[in-house]
Amino acid sequence: MGGGKETPQVNRILPVPNSTASYWRSKPHWLDEYRSTEQLPPQADIVIIGTGIAGVSTAYHILDRKDNDNAPPPSILLLEARQVCSGATGRNGGHIKKLPSTIVELIQNYGSTAAGEFVKFVRANIYGVKRVIEKEKIEAEAELRRSFDVSLNKEDASEVKRQFDEQLQSEFPLTEDVNYVGEESAERITSLYGAVAGLSTPVLSLWPYKFVTQLLERVLSKGNVNLQTNTAVIAIETDDDGRGYTVNTSRGQVKTPTIVFATNGYTAGLLPQYRNIITPSKATASHITVPPGQQVPYLSNTYNIRYASDRVDYLNPRPDGSIVVGGGKWTYEKERELWYDNHDDSTLIEPARHYFDGLMQRNFRGWEDSGAKTECVWTGIQGITKDGLPHIGKVPGTSGQYILAGYNGGGMAIAFMAALAVARMIREGISFDQTGIPNCLETTQARLDMGKVH
Ligand SMILES: Cc1cc2nc3c(=O)[nH]c(=O)nc-3n(C[C@H](O)[C@H](O)[C@H](O)COP(=O)(O)OP(=O)(O)OC[C@H]3O[C@@H](n4cnc5c(N)ncnc54)[C@H](O)[C@@H]3O)c2cc1C
Repeated sequence: MGGGKETPQVNRILPVPNSTASYWRSKPHWLDEYRSTEQLPPQADIVIIGTGIAGVSTAYHILDRKDNDNAPPPSILLLEARQVCSGATGRNGGHIKKLPSTIVELIQNYGSTAAGEFVKFVRANIYGVKRVIEKEKIEAEAELRRSFDVSLNKEDASEVKRQFDEQLQSEFPLTEDVNYVGEESAERITSLYGAVAGLSTPVLSLWPYKFVTQLLERVLSKGNVNLQTNTAVIAIETDDDGRGYTVNTSRGQVKTPTIVFATNGYTAGLLPQYRNIITPSKATASHITVPPGQQVPYLSNTYNIRYASDRVDYLNPRPDGSIVVGGGKWTYEKERELWYDNHDDSTLIEPARHYFDGLMQRNFRGWEDSGAKTECVWTGIQGITKDGLPHIGKVPGTSGQYILAGYNGGGMAIAFMAALAVARMIREGISFDQTGIPNCLETTQARLDMGKVH
């Protein structure tokens, strides 16, 4: 960025206090409110803002160096406005997968080649997270399963089948991973009443908070890393010499030449050029339990339940027999102010407060008399983008500012490998093209221009 002092933007999209309590965050890790030092360090080589999967994975990849790399590791400062992993990563459905139905949208919007690259990238994320969990001996209830995209509606089912056949015919990448079951066996195989069709795909089911906090533990033990929780970044100023930045926080200032924005739905609060490009969007999920001693069929798959093409819930059974379910968007979708451009996860979305009650009894074979009840409901903030794709890479027109954000409710399937790309850009000085991740994910000026109000 050129010289000359800029007026710092004051952050109006800060994470709010007293966020709703999610099941995943029910037992805080010892790092939850940790500060490596009492005061902020005055300077750091790299400042990473945000400690969800994106921020912590970026720090991990920066430090995960080859044995023959003798250069001293850079100093990294991780800044988090609230507790560690208290954003969307601590509040989601716990899935890493790409739905067959969303592949269709990608093909329609970006063509088969770009969609194919994207699907391969998600696959790399599934196996990348699995590998790091094994390598770093992380206990996060991670399990490679099948995820069923189940249609309960005949019209939707025949459209899903038609689209899948088209993908098979065009030998779309990874159709070999996807399996179709039709009406004759869908109900038995999926355990869902009224199932007309199901497409299954590989999924990594995991406990996201456990994954991120334990990965952070490994990061802190690897190098020169300082973690500061309950430290909100309020504004960024370009220094007079144009070579670095002053990061203004709720607890003082830090100088740095390199900033990583891993702030997902909150990004536009710090980077005004992302206003109308990454919009905060509130969503909800729940945890359903069965009374002790009650026998119910164990569900070994995860699900997307398609009541209709525009009414979809997602469901992730836990090893203890309880269930995490999210969705219910159509109960509040028309009341836009309840969710769109809304970053308040301290309250529930009222029309969906009781939506999950009885969901298992209504839909699953053998669960009718289970006594299953909604144990807790929470909300979280996603980052919805103008063109439906995340923004990854160097912030256009800057030097030393990087972003990975805007996952449209699917960041678990993108962020880990996006973080590798950003880490390599910083560490190796390579360009976005050289990272090998799909071109359509690069944050560019042309994509930012889409947000300009004419
Ligand atoms: C209800 C729900 C269900 C979902 N289900 C799924 C799913 O099943 N599969 C899937 O792939 N995705 C799912 N998602 C989306 C997924 O959770 C996100 O895309 C992903 O977690 C984003 O990770 P992140 O690290 O970029 O952002 P976050 O986890 O939101 O982390 C951003 C962090 O930045 C911090 N921060 C923000 N601004 C500042 C600031 N100014 N100063 C300091 N810190 C700041 C925040 O406090 C937060 O901790 C779901 C999301 C929700 C809300």
